[in-house]
Amino acid sequence: MKIKPKKSLGQNFLRDNTFIEKILTCANLPKATEIIEIGPGDGALTNYLASTNKKFRGFEVDSKLHSILNNKFSDNNNMEFINADILTVDLHKFSSEKLIVFGNLPYNISSQIILKILEEDFIFLECIFLVQKEMAERFISKKEKQNKLSLITEYFGTIHGIFDIPPEAFHPKPKVTSTLIRLVKNNEDRGLNYQNFKIVLTKCFANPRKKIKAGLKALNLEMEFFSFDINKRPEELVLEDFFEILRAYEQQI
Ligand code: SAM
Repeated sequence: MKIKPKKSLGQNFLRDNTFIEKILTCANLPKATEIIEIGPGDGALTNYLASTNKKFRGFEVDSKLHSILNNKFSDNNNMEFINADILTVDLHKFSSEKLIVFGNLPYNISSQIILKILEEDFIFLECIFLVQKEMAERFISKKEKQNKLSLITEYFGTIHGIFDIPPEAFHPKPKVTSTLIRLVKNNEDRGLNYQNFKIVLTKCFANPRKKIKAGLKALNLEMEFFSFDINKRPEELVLEDFFEILRAYEQQI
């Protein structure tokens, strides 16, 4: 059946088997017993995941693609396709330390999906995601030039870039290069209030070009003493510096 890709659902289907095989070699499949795929589409990656014979769940929002997938893999008893918007799924229910989450993510909601996975009480071995290169760079863990998303990532775990995939590997061809990333969570309770931490980050990165003292003023903390140089820009601070701001913020709310 001919499928007309829907731009509104970020449908850029993988069409290059060499890259699909390369994606699979990067995953820790021997350690996994379960797989989730976000947005299996017409099953390009799913075909290969099916051959692993692991317990598989695919969440596809497009009902036409969902029924194509159901037909295509009807002989595979270990595979289930759920017609749902991944952003509304209670992922906690699927937690397992032997679970790998795959996804060539719809570019329009890829950051929302990554944030949901980081923020929710959802345990897994690793996520292997394909996202736009620019988006990957914002999330990827780094030692310097941090931004709000890379700090949120560091709060919960790490995201590393694995390799790039050119637009030619997809149909339709996107305008930009994609990057395969690995997301791993540390599942540690930091004993901090995450909502307050987000407020601190939002205020501090409201004007990333300005010095951190502008953010401190927005939080009514301009009179406080901090161990870091308040003339630095927010991108020059490390996670622990933001925890110091968080503690000061929580003392005055
Ligand atoms: N996995 C396929 C591949 O690599 O060829 C398709 C990837 S395509 C970039 C993104 C897929 O995610 C599409 O099949 C699209 O319908 C699906 N999708 C978009 N928004 C979604 C959502 N909110 N929940 C679940 N699936 C979604």
